[in-house]
Amino acid sequence: MTTAQGTRFKGKVALVTGGNAGIGLATALCFAMEGAQVVIAARRRTEGDAAVAQIRAAGGEATFVETDVTSAGSVSHLVDACVARYGGLDIAFNNAGITGSTASRIEEADEALFDQVMAVNVKGTWLSMKYEIPAMLKRGGGSIINCGSGAAIRGGSGMAGAYYASKHAVMGMTRNIAVECATRNIRVNAVLPGMVMTDLVARGFASNPEKLKLLCSRIPMARTGEPAEVAAAVLWLASGDSAYVTGTGLSVDGGITI
Ligand code: NDP
Repeated sequence: MTTAQGTRFKGKVALVTGGNAGIGLATALCFAMEGAQVVIAARRRTEGDAAVAQIRAAGGEATFVETDVTSAGSVSHLVDACVARYGGLDIAFNNAGITGSTASRIEEADEALFDQVMAVNVKGTWLSMKYEIPAMLKRGGGSIINCGSGAAIRGGSGMAGAYYASKHAVMGMTRNIAVECATRNIRVNAVLPGMVMTDLVARGFASNPEKLKLLCSRIPMARTGEPAEVAAAVLWLASGDSAYVTGTGLSVDGGITI
C-alpha cells in the first residue's frame, strides 16, 4: 500500500461498515489515503484493530468501533462514536453484508439463514441510514453509498432467494431514501460489485469451485475484480465529482451485468 497522502477527503469523516475485511477494508484504506478520518465498524475486533493499525502505519487516521449492524442500539452507538471521536459524519459506505445460504434450491434452504441475510443486508443498511442521516444533516449534508450487487438488479442461479431479495431491497431503499434526501444535500447511491475475490466469495464457492470457474468464464473482461476497483467507485460516489448523481446503482463488474 502506498503511504502517499492525497487530500480529496481531507476534513471529512467517513464511516465504513464491514470495514475490517474485503471490499470494506480496501475502501477504508482508500478513504484514509485520501485524507479522510475513517471509522471502521464490524463485529470482529481483532480484524478491526488490524485494519486501524494498517491505516495508521501508512500515515492515515482511523478508529474501530465494534458494531453489529442488525442491532439498532449498536448502530446508534456507532454513529454517536463517530461524532464523539471526529466531530461529525460526512460519508458512509454501508457495506456490511453476508451471502447466507449456498443451497442451490429454495426447498433445501434454511429459514434461519434467510432471516439472517435479511437482518444484515436489509435491516443493517436501513438502520445505518436511519442513524447516519441525522448526523449528516447536522454537518449540512453528506453522501451515502450502500453496497448492492449485480444481484440487486438482475436474476441469477443459486443462493436460494434470500441474497437476491436482500440486494434488490438495498437498491429499492437506496432509490427511496435518495428521493427523501434529495433536497437536503444528502446523496444516496449504491455500488453494485460483480465477482470480487474476497472471503465472502471464497466461502460461497468453497464447495463448488467448478461453478466459480464457469461464472468467471462469463465475465466479459474475463477476470474477477479487485476490492480496490470497487473502492475507487465508492470514492467517486462519495466525492463532489458525482454531485448530480443520486439514487443510482453503479455496476463495477467487468461487464457481467450486460
Ligand atoms: P467479506 O465477507 O469479506 O466482508 C463482509 C464484512 O461484513 C466483514 O467486514 C464483516 O465483519 C461484516 N459484517 C458481516 N456481518 C456483520 C454484522 N452483523 N455487523 C457488522 N458487520 C458485519 O465480504 P465482501 O467484502 O466480499 O462483501 C462486502 C459487501 O460487498 C457485501 O455487502 C456483499 O454482499 C457485497 N458484494 C460482494 C461481492 C463479491 O464478489 N465479493 C459481489 C457483490 C456484492 P465482521 O464479520 O467482523 O462483522
